[in-house]
Amino acid sequence: MKKTTHFGFKDVATEDKQGMVRSIFDSVASKYNLMNDVLSFGTHRLWKHYTIATSNVKVGDKVLDIAGGTGDLARAFKKKVGYSGQVVLSDINAAMLSEGRKNLINNGTTDVQFVQLNGEQIPFVSGSFDCVSIAFGLRNVTDKDQCIREMYRILKPGGCLLILEFSKTDIVLLEKCYDFYSFNVMPQLGKIIANDEDSYQYLAESIRKHPNQEILKQMVLDAGFGACEYHNLSGGIVALHKGIKI
Ligand code: SAM
Repeated sequence: MKKTTHFGFKDVATEDKQGMVRSIFDSVASKYNLMNDVLSFGTHRLWKHYTIATSNVKVGDKVLDIAGGTGDLARAFKKKVGYSGQVVLSDINAAMLSEGRKNLINNGTTDVQFVQLNGEQIPFVSGSFDCVSIAFGLRNVTDKDQCIREMYRILKPGGCLLILEFSKTDIVLLEKCYDFYSFNVMPQLGKIIANDEDSYQYLAESIRKHPNQEILKQMVLDAGFGACEYHNLSGGIVALHKGIKI
């Protein structure tokens, strides 16, 4: 029998998920930044700012951003590591990576490397990065445990993992409003602005299927990280998990 996994609320053959996710991001790439600002009312910028500010990344560090898409984190990390450091912006999707490259050039950020890669099979040697980040990417990865193990492998001892991802709020009223917004407003905005209702329906569904804060924390520890803590943002709609390789 074929192994299955979820793609939003649908069950699909595990081997098909990657291609289906690729189609979503091929479709949204050119409007990705605009939609991010509209759908989150600009709040994604604050979530990312918090991630960078609490990352402990310093001048000279080597940072890999996985599923980096249009490059918000990579651009901010480059400012932190300076010219003696190195930032690699990576993504599985060529269209997203190419938007990322354009954005970085337009913002005057140079000296960032671009690598098209799958977070489940990272083509870097073990112990080579001080920090590895993945923002709003993990829920799209087919084998999340494998991706976290790979992120563990490429970190140096003492290195830091940052997972910024949609999560679960336990504030009942907020959850109700958020559910209404996600399933009624978001797909309609996707239809009006990007002519793409389905991708934004997938976004809402994939968020609901993603592991909650405690489960993700356990996944990080199971991958070998010696410590993991998380911080809820916007009442738990988003959480930042930070793992340390000891
Ligand atoms: N990190 C960016 C941000 O926060 O704005 C982009 C996030 S976007 C929602 C998710 C990204 O995950 C897409 O660019 C997609 O191509 C990428 N992605 C999905 N599956 C992936 C995988 N297996 N490996 C690497 N990137 C992947």
